[in-house]
Amino acid sequence: MGKKHKKKVYTTPKKTKHIHKKQSVENFISSFNNLKCEKCNSIMANHDNRIYCGKCCISIFYKSYSEENIY
Ligand SMILES: [Zn+2]
Repeated sequence: MGKKHKKKVYTTPKKTKHIHKKQSVENFISSFNNLKCEKCNSIMANHDNRIYCGKCCISIFYKSYSEENIY
């Protein structure tokens, strides 16, 4: 007969799941003015130092945007 597993006792409190932050409408609308991807023509996500296309996984850094360095 196998040993019975002892019921796990959690000592740490339950982790609170990440709460989805509501995106402000303003922010959402402004995203329509974002640059569009050259490849798929979808709106690119604005980041601090770059823009990113979620479809092509391409990010273009603002620094080198004029040079169009694509990573
Ligand atoms: Zn794209």
